[in-house]
Amino acid sequence: MVLPTNVLLRLAAIPTPNASLGVDVSCWRWDNKQKFTTKSAYESLHTPCAPKLALWGVIWRLPVPQRVRTFMWLAVLGKILTNHERLRRHLADSDTCSLCHDGIEDVVHVLRDCVRARSIWTQVIKTSKLPEFDSLSTRDWFIGMLTRSKEFVIECTNSEARFAVIRWILWSWRNKSLFDTDTIIIESILHECDRILLGFQATKSTTTAKLVHPPLWCAPPQGWVTANVDGTVRLDDNAAASGGVFRDSTGRWLFGFSRSLSCCPILFAELWGVHDALKQAWCFGYKKLIIEIDSTDVVDLLLRQHDVLRSDTLAVSIRQMLVQNWQVKIHKIDRDSNRVADALAGASRGSPIGETFYTASPSFVQSLIMKGF
Ligand SMILES: [Zn+2]
Repeated sequence: MVLPTNVLLRLAAIPTPNASLGVDVSCWRWDNKQKFTTKSAYESLHTPCAPKLALWGVIWRLPVPQRVRTFMWLAVLGKILTNHERLRRHLADSDTCSLCHDGIEDVVHVLRDCVRARSIWTQVIKTSKLPEFDSLSTRDWFIGMLTRSKEFVIECTNSEARFAVIRWILWSWRNKSLFDTDTIIIESILHECDRILLGFQATKSTTTAKLVHPPLWCAPPQGWVTANVDGTVRLDDNAAASGGVFRDSTGRWLFGFSRSLSCCPILFAELWGVHDALKQAWCFGYKKLIIEIDSTDVVDLLLRQHDVLRSDTLAVSIRQMLVQNWQVKIHKIDRDSNRVADALAGASRGSPIGETFYTASPSFVQSLIMKGF
């Protein structure tokens, strides 16, 4: 019997059994202490955490005002009060669109399909891409558009932010049309979008100008090497990968590595990065190692010897390596400081499962290194 592909891909991201890592034990994956509780079972059914958190990460990083991010989050979850949602909550008598009276007013109708929304999108989306734009499922339209916006938008600069802001204005426009008497013309929506984006950029540049030091990479003390590691999971298909780079106290590139992982949660992609960094450092004889990672969860998990380390094969393997005869420090760093590791991991995402080793810095990270990352 052959297992389904999605199961095989998940198995591929799990380390093979190893007697030295201890005997197998049963555990409950939804609780930090890996013991069954009714609370964790309930939460596991109602909060698919990893995809939601990953999605929130994408929305949170959008260079748009906070009110737009919050709107995007509510819209993705189907929480904004369209007529469809209002009827479901017994707040309305009909779910028909109040603007065009042509079809059910759900989130996608308001923000994409309603005749007035279409009048905007035809100004923004490349003509050749409109059929695909119209045919995407609700999830793909909301999430895929955030990561593939450059493919669709005529004006590519800041395309994902433009997408989000236009959606927010369309929702505001819908509410104004129903509750105000203001007439809004297409040009004013696009101008309003530009005004919001420019205003946000101006605010951001004022804020960042106050930073004394940009979050650049810092070399380790003499005699030490630093391994920057990262993990990444693509939203569209959950393709995961990890990667990292070793540099010495002079900033010299020692080597880079990455691993395509098929499908696994982001936490395990990050742990694979740590695992491979430790393995490589030990093999190369680096006995003073600083591991830099931008995941608070992983740092917390490693430094506090979290309970999950007791039974997960990958984590147990990491713990065994950490207690070898050497000095290893784990540092939490800013995401921006970890761009090279992020790029190495990203380059392997979606590749055939396996490891890649970079003796020299690949071309796609050289500009980052030149900029001091
Ligand atoms: Zn409509």
